[in-house]
Amino acid sequence: MYRIANVAVVDPRDGSITADQDIRIADGRIAGIGAAAGPDRDQTTVDGRGRFVVPGFVDMHAHPLNLGDPTRELGLMLAFGVTGYRQMSGTPDLLRRRRDRGPAVDDGTPALLATPGAVLTPINAGKPDTAVAEVRRQVLDGADFIKAALITPEVYAAVQTEADRLGIPVVGHLPAGVDVRAASDAGFRSIEHVGPGLGVLGGCSCHEERLRATTSRGPIKAPPFKIPFADKVAEKLIGRIVVNPAQMTGPATLRAIQDAVDSFDEDKARELARRFAANDTWNCPTLIRIKAQQFCDDPAFAADPDLRYATAKERKTWNAAAAAFRKKFGEAQRAVFAAQFALQLRVVKILDEEGAPLLAGTDAVGAAWVVAGASLHDEFDLLAEAGLSPLRILRTATTDPARFLGRERDAGTVEPGKEADLVLLDRDPTAAVANLHTVSGVVRAGRHQDTAALTALKEQATGR
Ligand SMILES: [Zn+2]
Repeated sequence: MYRIANVAVVDPRDGSITADQDIRIADGRIAGIGAAAGPDRDQTTVDGRGRFVVPGFVDMHAHPLNLGDPTRELGLMLAFGVTGYRQMSGTPDLLRRRRDRGPAVDDGTPALLATPGAVLTPINAGKPDTAVAEVRRQVLDGADFIKAALITPEVYAAVQTEADRLGIPVVGHLPAGVDVRAASDAGFRSIEHVGPGLGVLGGCSCHEERLRATTSRGPIKAPPFKIPFADKVAEKLIGRIVVNPAQMTGPATLRAIQDAVDSFDEDKARELARRFAANDTWNCPTLIRIKAQQFCDDPAFAADPDLRYATAKERKTWNAAAAAFRKKFGEAQRAVFAAQFALQLRVVKILDEEGAPLLAGTDAVGAAWVVAGASLHDEFDLLAEAGLSPLRILRTATTDPARFLGRERDAGTVEPGKEADLVLLDRDPTAAVANLHTVSGVVRAGRHQDTAALTALKEQATGR
């Protein structure tokens, strides 16, 4: 049992701040909160004077467990205030290991809050019957959700039906060629990367049908026969594409993007946003990820001081991705990507204004220029650039993930009985987005790490 003393408690639901509180922490939970009681010689105390406490940040789109040994990346995430994450790609092995190991808590790493099995692609879900079999297998292995990536509309329909029957949510990439409104009505639970591509933007265009037809040809075809080690092959293939999928954009897709920009219809966008709100269809825009794709050779990425937390191998891969981008795309093409990004920001703001639910996520680990942990703060800044208030941004990483994951009894606010996963900030996070960066302490499963411990975690991650 210990206390965080004289701290200001922030409620992300309404932005109210209760000054001068003592938070008692025991057995990984918040045991009690009350007016500061003054010094107590019998109890260890963390000095919270002048500081603000919020729930631990959740990165709702990350891939640390793609690595054989994610210790470094998980440490970095914790050092930047990330106390939990949604793993966005799984393997049968990951699911089995988690099931066999049980719910052991590691207070030195962020919590794995949810994971799918293998991402659905033409390799494991090329046809409706194989896709349905894959969904059943993943449910038996203990997947928390099904992640769609590169599947056809026909496969998606079969997957959604089977997943509904088995009571497991479907999230991920809106399959190319699927009507975004129909997917929302069918229960698609979270849309990643604003689509990706034209998935959401297309639905805001008065050329919607035409755009859907031009972008429905997927880049990968289903193999005509069952290939051995298909999951491993898929992992490798996806790993190569994942660094920067925008690299594969061809002239027809670029024309479609420009078309989507030119034919944007704000009324349609607002109607779509209201539909997302009514259907409880979430969006995890991962703006840092789509910016890093569409501006891959922007020198600001290569000059980012946070790159010291990337490995030498990552820096090499990312610089190569930037060079390939520069070689392939000229001024005209990069202007199209820039216009697309401006529209993506505008749509995120419309989602915010119309009450559509939003999640903060990064796509860290595997994506060019997206540094584990640090990138969640980049995401906060980009959500602010889109026009979200600091309080709304705080919610996308705290109370909103708790609601999305059905964990409101355990997480999402700083209240007695909840898990002691907390972030201490030096400045008021409701006043400015920059204040969300002032992490000076993290509590994970009750264990407090002070500034020195967090700095040590970051230092361990540098020079690799
Ligand atoms: Zn991802």
